[in-house]
Amino acid sequence: MKNEFISYYIVIAKKEVILSAGAINSPQLLMLSGIGLKTVLDDFGKALILDFTCRITSLPKSRGRVKLGSNDPLTNALIYSNYFAEESDIQLLIKGLTIGAKLSRTNALINKGYDLITDLLPGCKSFTFGTEHYWMCALRTNTKSINHPVGTCKMGLYNDTDAVVDPQRMIYGIVKFRVVDASIIPVIPRGNIIVPTIIIIEKGADMIKNKWQKS
Ligand SMILES: Cc1cc2nc3c(=O)[nH]c(=O)nc-3n(C[C@H](O)[C@H](O)[C@H](O)COP(=O)(O)OP(=O)(O)OC[C@H]3O[C@@H](n4cnc5c(N)ncnc54)[C@H](O)[C@@H]3O)c2cc1C
Repeated sequence: MKNEFISYYIVIAKKEVILSAGAINSPQLLMLSGIGLKTVLDDFGKALILDFTCRITSLPKSRGRVKLGSNDPLTNALIYSNYFAEESDIQLLIKGLTIGAKLSRTNALINKGYDLITDLLPGCKSFTFGTEHYWMCALRTNTKSINHPVGTCKMGLYNDTDAVVDPQRMIYGIVKFRVVDASIIPVIPRGNIIVPTIIIIEKGADMIKNKWQKS
């Protein structure tokens, strides 16, 4: 799109601004607005409004990162998933896989006709099935995302240096600016995230109504 076709508007919010663009686009829009990591914003020549050093991060132990790809709001943000950056995450999964393999050899499962498929996975054919090195290879070459990003604008108490928003979903350091989407989930849940996301949004809607219906 050429610049001459873009219209610019100044919009004044009488009550508050609610950002609900999702776990990837909410941090992107914040960073485009000069709210984010100083070191990242410096690279894009952004006037810094608020420095959230270490605050735009996600995932337990291994932490991913969402960064600006460019100053253009119409280009995609850069997503660094960073799976297994922390060795403890991979060790935990190896323990789980080892337990699962053991379970497959119990009479209870054998009698039900269960059989563990021991075909070597692509990329791991030089390893012996079931060894720690095999599981490590299987995890590093076959792990995929199932589209559940969270925690890029983490909710937390003021003394939590990773927190971007407070329990009312208001951005620390900025007045009347609320984030209401999956980006505020502090840690990745064990299951799929649409239900916790809906709960967060419903609760957020109640907070907004409670605040403004009274005034
Ligand atoms: C393919 C796929 C399958 C999934 N399957 C499941 C599943 O089976 N079960 C489950 O629990 N979860 C599933 N999820 C995850 C779940 O859908 C998301 O995690 C959930 O929607 C998270 O919501 P969010 O808050 O990140 O915002 P989103 O749902 O991403 O909503 C953000 C909204 O903001 C809009 N937006 C973004 N930027 C702008 C902008 N600049 N201006 C205006 N609007 C903007 C977007 O168009 C979007 O409508 C799936 C996700 C994907 C991608």
